[in-house]
Amino acid sequence: MPRRLVKADGSITDQRNDVALAGLNHKLGYRGTVNTLLNFGEGKFPVNGQAGAVGYLIGQQGEGLKCMFTLMNEARIGVGLGATMLGYAGYEASLTYAKERPQGRHVATGGKDHSAPQIPIIEHTDVKRMLLMQKAVVEGGLALGLLCSQLVDDELTGSAEQGENARLLLELLTPIAKSWPSEWAQEANSQAIQILGGYGYTRDFPVEQYWRDNRLNMIHEGTHGIQGLDLLGRKVVMNGGKALSVLAERISQTIQKAGHVPGLAEHGTALAQALQKVGAATKAAWSTGVPEEALANATPYLQAFGHTVLAWIWLELALAAKAAQAEGTWDKRPEGPGFLQGKLAAADYFFAYELPKIDAWLGVVSRRDLTCAKAQADWF
Ligand SMILES: Cc1cc2nc3c(=O)[nH]c(=O)nc-3n(C[C@H](O)[C@H](O)[C@H](O)COP(=O)(O)OP(=O)(O)OC[C@H]3O[C@@H](n4cnc5c(N)ncnc54)[C@H](O)[C@@H]3O)c2cc1C
Repeated sequence: MPRRLVKADGSITDQRNDVALAGLNHKLGYRGTVNTLLNFGEGKFPVNGQAGAVGYLIGQQGEGLKCMFTLMNEARIGVGLGATMLGYAGYEASLTYAKERPQGRHVATGGKDHSAPQIPIIEHTDVKRMLLMQKAVVEGGLALGLLCSQLVDDELTGSAEQGENARLLLELLTPIAKSWPSEWAQEANSQAIQILGGYGYTRDFPVEQYWRDNRLNMIHEGTHGIQGLDLLGRKVVMNGGKALSVLAERISQTIQKAGHVPGLAEHGTALAQALQKVGAATKAAWSTGVPEEALANATPYLQAFGHTVLAWIWLELALAAKAAQAEGTWDKRPEGPGFLQGKLAAADYFFAYELPKIDAWLGVVSRRDLTCAKAQADWF
């Protein structure tokens, strides 16, 4: 529905269509892009003397939504990567700050000795916790985005079987690639603000902007709630659960590899348990076959599924780090040995602090908890 009418040969005329700019939207973030409200067919620019905007059919009638999804699936991976990059920017800004800001003293060595020099806040355990959280989210989110981008290529260029497996995995992973970084990279941005303390809340530093910008990503290109419904209502059950089986097979291969690596076998066991719990919760959710019950907790399911996928990604990253350590040549690289130790610490963080959260999320899914579903509008 263009601003100016179009001739049969596709050329644009000078005649205005009945599309009017109602005004600009004044947004929380993403202020570098203009966002407008358009009114269609309200008679501001009558066409042939009548109110009503003229639309042109492109392609077949009734096929528009399907066409839109050819764009949308890749766009959703892009949204996830965008969320990750905002998270990354916040991580780097807060890391730089944490290395420079002197405040307080070590708890262990005379925390109250005022004659002792202050330490940079990166030395405080709680600040390291916030940095590890951000690192786990943004580096894990980046790996997830790259994996999905590779699957898009595999779907187009692989053998028939590779292409089909890539397609199935993408169907399942796209809601995660979109929603997981949208939620957790924004939380990472919140942690970046926290590391900067009072300065984090000011406009003198960029972290408040990253947080505001990132808040969009749970809303556009399919809201968080819609991603959950898509995952539990459609993706995990389609073709008799085929896509879920393909993913489980890939995750099991990683678990097997980890079983032989000292320091990672435990993570492999935790991931195997998480995978089993996701499978059991999926079955329990659908055990009565009543969509209102199955889907009552689709968002907690999305969160648990996402954390399980990210645990898999982190186990893969940890395996790669261990392999690079074993090669013994890494120390000569400019990144230094700390690079690999950092990867392993982020993996440990994810398994210790993040993965256990799935129990609460899957609990309401498995019980088909109807607390939210049953709440009536007049109770609020
Ligand atoms: C900055 C910005 C840029 C945008 N750019 C574009 C653009 O370029 N092109 C474009 O087409 N759109 C664009 N959008 C629109 C965006 O895609 C929509 O805002 C988004 O899809 C949500 O739709 P809605 O705003 O109508 O919310 P609603 O659909 O009203 O949703 C409101 C809330 O209700 C929940 N909800 C709604 N239906 C259900 C349901 N069935 N079950 C459970 N929960 C539900 C949602 O999850 C959400 O939490 C943009 C939005 C913003 C903010």
